[in-house]
Formats: sequence, structure tokens, C-alpha cells
Amino acid sequence: MSLQASQLNELHWLMEMLHNIDVGLVVLDKDYKVQIFNGFMENHSGLLPREVKGKLLFELFDEIPQDWFERKAESVFLLKNKAFTIWEQRPYLFKFNSYRPVTGSSDFMYQNTTFIPLMSSTGEVSHLCLLVYDVTDNAVHKMSLEKANKELAILSQTDGLTKLFNRSHWENCLQAEYKRWTRSQHSSSLVILDIDHFKKVNDTYGHVVGDEVIRHLSSLIRDHVRETDISGRYGGEEFVILLADTPLKNAYVFAERLRREVEASITKYNDIDLKYTISIGIAEIEPTIKSYEAWIECADTALYHAKQNGRNKVSIHPKPVVK
Ligand code: GH3
Ligand code: MG
Ligand code: MG
Repeated sequence: MSLQASQLNELHWLMEMLHNIDVGLVVLDKDYKVQIFNGFMENHSGLLPREVKGKLLFELFDEIPQDWFERKAESVFLLKNKAFTIWEQRPYLFKFNSYRPVTGSSDFMYQNTTFIPLMSSTGEVSHLCLLVYDVTDNAVHKMSLEKANKELAILSQTDGLTKLFNRSHWENCLQAEYKRWTRSQHSSSLVILDIDHFKKVNDTYGHVVGDEVIRHLSSLIRDHVRETDISGRYGGEEFVILLADTPLKNAYVFAERLRREVEASITKYNDIDLKYTISIGIAEIEPTIKSYEAWIECADTALYHAKQNGRNKVSIHPKPVVK
């Protein structure tokens, strides 16, 4: 075989490989008219190379934002550098269906695309090559991992029985609120509450009914708080609610309303109708309180007074008199 014939063969093979490779390949001229369109592109778009040849890219694929694409491509023409788009920024360039069985959860193909400048014999960039990679498997796996991590993070902050924040996450929130207060000195109140004579509930009806009461109270709390309030389960049958941007007076109104609501409500479990009450302590943040732990102690002291005063009461931690 002559040298020329063997070179022709190689060229032919090369063309064949590019046509069959599992990567999209499109060559555009400076007017964004399609010059080459390989088998991958043909299979996924359903368009034949001869149908697209010489046609404007944006007319063939109206999902491609023309302004964005031209800006990207112009820098490739001008700077003679490669450019990239990744699926995290733009899920796809060409909207193709996804047929992969493992990635049944995605309707379309996620793509990474590389823009390659093609130089003419004069050294000028006359054409642009797009390499389109199907990254659906990676994208779907990464997204499901991120989703699982998010769910795990929520789970690690949530109390299983009540679905309110658990103690450690709630304390983090309180600490953040305390720090915010040291900068802005806005008013903010902390409410702590405990079920009265709860041991009796457990002793009389058993722990399962006790759990039902805890769940019942947590749902009443959820019904009463605003979106900006942060409520958590502090201990067994002890709950905490951080009322951001709320002065003591308003916190008292909130606590009294909740106390009365609990007093009036009935927890039902099978044929058991159960009534219970709660005691509540409130402390508004003020300058003599030097840490978020001290803030909890103040609210706890108020709760202790509510218990001492006969239970089913709201007590406030008195603010120091300013002389
Ligand atoms: P007081 O009015 O002084 O608060 O009396 P009390 O009986 O409620 O006393 P205390 O608050 O100390 O009672 C806590 C009880 O709550 C003790 C424990 O058996 C019970 N408890 C703690 N966690 C749970 C829980 O998750 N489920 C159930 N059913 N009971 C719990
Ligand atoms: Mg109690
Ligand atoms: Mg208790």
C-alpha cells in the first residue's frame, strides 16, 4: 500500500471513530452554522448530519441561549483558548432525553461541554468544536448523595418523638441568637416549660401514654409559634422556645395563651381522655446576662418559681432595676 493510500485509510478510520465515539461532536463556523455533526448527536437529536449542515445552531436547538453561547464562543475565537460548561452551572446545552436505565430518575441528559478553537492553516481560529459529554450518571449520583446528606443533617437536628429541634441543635440556635443580640441589642425572649406532675401520667397510664402527651404538647407548641420562633425539646418533658425580636411583655402574652390552651385541651389515647398542665418560665435577654448558658439559667429559675407558686403558672425572670 502506498504511503498516500495508508494515510487516506488512517484519515478514514479517524472519521469513522469520531462518528461513532460516545461523545457529542459538533463543528461550527464563525456564524454558528453547523459543519460537522457526529453519530452521538444524530442518535440523541434524531437529526441527520445532512439535515443540519449549514444551518444555524440556535434555529436547530432553541434551548441554547444565544446571547450566553455567543459570549462564550467569542472568547474562544478571540483568545484561542478552550472553554467549558459543567452541568452544575448549566444542566445541559442540548436538551436530549436520558435513556440510561441506572439513571431512571432523570428525564434529560446532564452534559459537560468543552469548546475547542479550531485553527485554519493561516493560524486564525475559523471554527469551533463542541465536545458534549453525557454526565447523567455522575450528576444523578451526586444529587442523590447531596439530598441524602441534607436529610441526614435535618435528622441530626431533630428530636425523634416530637420532630422539634433536639437540644444540641436548639442550643446552637440560642448561641447564635445571643451573639446576634450582642451586636444589635434587639429584644429577644426565652421561654422554658415543663409538664406538671408528669411522673404521675407515666405511673398511672404507662410510658406510651406519656409519650403521647409529649407529642400532643409539641404539636400545640408548633401551632402557637411563628415561623421565626425556634422551638426545641430540651429534655424529657421540658421544652424551650426562643422568641426572636420579642420583648418580655409579648413573650408573656404568648406564654399565657399557650398555658391556657394546654389547660383546656384533652389528649386522647384509645379510650383514655387525659388532661395536663404546664409551668412556664420566661427570661428576656438583657446586659447583665453574660452568656447564652446564663440566659437559660434565668429562664429556668423563673420556671422553678412557677412550679413553687403552685404550677400551671407563667413566671418571668425579673429584669434588674436600672438606677
Ligand atoms: P413537676 O411538676 O415538678 O415537673 O413534676 P414531674 O413529675 O413532671 O417531674 P419531672 O419534670 O422531673 O418529671 C420528668 C419525668 O418525665 C421523669 C421521666 O420519667 C419522664 N420522662 C422523661 N422523658 C420521657 C419520655 O420521653 N417519655 C415519657 N413517657 N416520659 C418521660
Ligand atoms: Mg415535669
Ligand atoms: Mg421535667
